[in-house]
Amino acid sequence: MKQIPTKPLRQIDIDDHVLGSYDSGHDGPLLLAIGGIHGNEPSGVQAIEAVLEELHRHQPNLHGRFLGLAGNIAALQARRRYIDEDLNRCFRSERVDARSATESVEQGELAALVSLIDEYAGGHDDVCFIDCHTTSSPSVPYLSVNAHPPSLIMMEDFPLHTVIGLERSIPGCCGEFLNQLDYRGFTFEAGQHEAETSREHHQATIWLLLANEGGLTLPDPSFIDRQESLLRQTLGEPKRHFELTAHYRIAADENFRMRPGFKNFDKVAKGQPLADNNDGLIRSPSDGRILMPLYQSEGDDGFFLLSPSD
Ligand SMILES: [Zn+2]
Repeated sequence: MKQIPTKPLRQIDIDDHVLGSYDSGHDGPLLLAIGGIHGNEPSGVQAIEAVLEELHRHQPNLHGRFLGLAGNIAALQARRRYIDEDLNRCFRSERVDARSATESVEQGELAALVSLIDEYAGGHDDVCFIDCHTTSSPSVPYLSVNAHPPSLIMMEDFPLHTVIGLERSIPGCCGEFLNQLDYRGFTFEAGQHEAETSREHHQATIWLLLANEGGLTLPDPSFIDRQESLLRQTLGEPKRHFELTAHYRIAADENFRMRPGFKNFDKVAKGQPLADNNDGLIRSPSDGRILMPLYQSEGDDGFFLLSPSD
């Protein structure tokens, strides 16, 4: 199993981002899984490594090629969300086109990832991806999907809640960049950063990607059904689609403090106290469901509010 290298950043090689790949000699899509775009979220990297190990051990039939990439190597080494800036806000055309490693650590990470994706996507007519993340609060796993029609179709084959349209509020995410290339896929938030279950959810979703989009055939045909059941059991209610209705951005020196106890998809009422800052109480602007309440020191998205769209 490949370990994230501990050498100094200057010595990080572009190939350190490649966790591994697998194919069985059949044409098909590039099936891409990315983990650790946020360095304090190692679960995706660990899940990709575990799936690769199983694939190489059992050599199953797969149409296309599975590729696992590690995102922000320097931040993964440091166990921090990022070093200079949030890599998952850097995937904007002017930054991608710059292809320069001089401005920030993350600009170098961005250039390496974009080059690798270009290189590996080259031989494929179709690219499907999952960008693996975790959250600071406990969470039901869910997909964050942009308003990209092929991705909206693809998401229906995954038994998970979906949140649609976050790219309008947080531009520059990796998923948005990949959708602009017309690659199909989404961000997958698997649960809380340190939870063992997050890694299991990441693995299950990667297996479903390989089965749904790569026609993976395993010796035990019930294995994929079990992955689907594992994810379905996390919902606690029927699968729902949600859209963004509000986004609380934290200002500099605001001293934002989320009130304890909120989990993703918890129902909140208009006027309910959600957080505090230097000016006092921050109340919910509407009825809805809360998403990504901030329980870590890094980041400037306080919380999001959702409403069901189905
Ligand atoms: Zn993340």
